[in-house]
Amino acid sequence: MTKTSKFDSAYLRRVNCVKTFCTIREHGWISRSELADITGLSRATVSETVRELLEREFVREVGSDNTQRGRPPVKLEVNPTRFYLIAVEIDVGWIVVAITTLVGEILVQRREEFRTHDYDFVLNLCVSTVDRLLRQQSIHRDDVLGIGVAVPGQVDLNRRVVTFAPNLRWRDVSLADDLERDLNLPVLVSNEAMLGAMAEKWFGRGRDAGVLVYVSVKGGLGCGIVNDRSLFLGVSGSAGELGHMSIDPKGPECSCGSRGCWEVYSDEQAILDRAFRALRTSKDSLLFQWCIVENRRLTVDDIVHAANVGDQTAMEIVRESGWYLGIGIANIVNGLNPDMVIVGGCIAASEIVFDEINRVVQERGLQIPAEKVSLVPTGLGDKVALMGCIALLLDTLLEQPEGRLNTDSVREN
Ligand SMILES: [Zn+2]
Repeated sequence: MTKTSKFDSAYLRRVNCVKTFCTIREHGWISRSELADITGLSRATVSETVRELLEREFVREVGSDNTQRGRPPVKLEVNPTRFYLIAVEIDVGWIVVAITTLVGEILVQRREEFRTHDYDFVLNLCVSTVDRLLRQQSIHRDDVLGIGVAVPGQVDLNRRVVTFAPNLRWRDVSLADDLERDLNLPVLVSNEAMLGAMAEKWFGRGRDAGVLVYVSVKGGLGCGIVNDRSLFLGVSGSAGELGHMSIDPKGPECSCGSRGCWEVYSDEQAILDRAFRALRTSKDSLLFQWCIVENRRLTVDDIVHAANVGDQTAMEIVRESGWYLGIGIANIVNGLNPDMVIVGGCIAASEIVFDEINRVVQERGLQIPAEKVSLVPTGLGDKVALMGCIALLLDTLLEQPEGRLNTDSVREN
């Protein structure tokens, strides 16, 4: 999320700060010399960066500070109780709010459901849920460094506006500023797939990946691209809308106005539509039993579950969905040459999907990028967007030299 040039000292400071903080977080108790060995930074740089993190109380010293021979050196750890972060995930019909430590450990979370697209209703629900959890945990606002919010839509990061969230039916809403005003805490808002990519880089399977693409398969299909430690944003912050690459120019119309977009064949609605079509001729399927006989509302989880227990109809639906995901991912692999593509959403829990994705990518991808890439499901489950909010907050906090999160610095100058 940096705006600094790759060659200035502020950029280097940020890189060193993030590297040091992440190494302390990942290793737990660690000495300064171990930090230098692992990060490859000089001892002087480690010493300077640690001093800054200690001053900000993001990390603390633990163990012996006695320098007598034979005593172990002072160890460092992320300060587990000094500050808190808040993550909010907004989706169609529900929100989840979580309070975490600086390590990213979720202390408490709460889900609220609703049946409206009304922006003010959802805004007020976010505010009341955050207030309620803070009171419940007896956490003072001064100890909260910031709130990260994930939305399924495009966000103008400079204006801090959700410009278009088709499934929520929101256009140009000032979510970050409204939450900041009502909660009196700094707020950052970003697209949930971009945050998924951040989560994988900070907490998930993409920690060691140079270039990683996160594919979020939910009500829509979005992607986030991380190059090194930074999100690739594009000129106006909407990079990663790969769900709208056309894979069939004469295909069905998409919500974006184009035709045959990858999303139309691959998002959760596409998977459910595939199931509803199959049910007409598959009366012996578990899905028919659940959906038609028992009149249950079918979910992608149900389809994956039925496929896992050997239901032939469900297995075919999942296989075909994996084929379409594979087509788009093969394009991504050819175009971006990533180390890793990580897929999130309920469908990612199916092994059949990954067998199919792997097969299509090997079959259709160019040889070198297809050989290099790892294709894996998220290991963060349904916490991926929440963890992405925490990653965004930590990344932005460490970019700033001091104090609490300053959201003025991310606004357009
Ligand atoms: Zn589209």
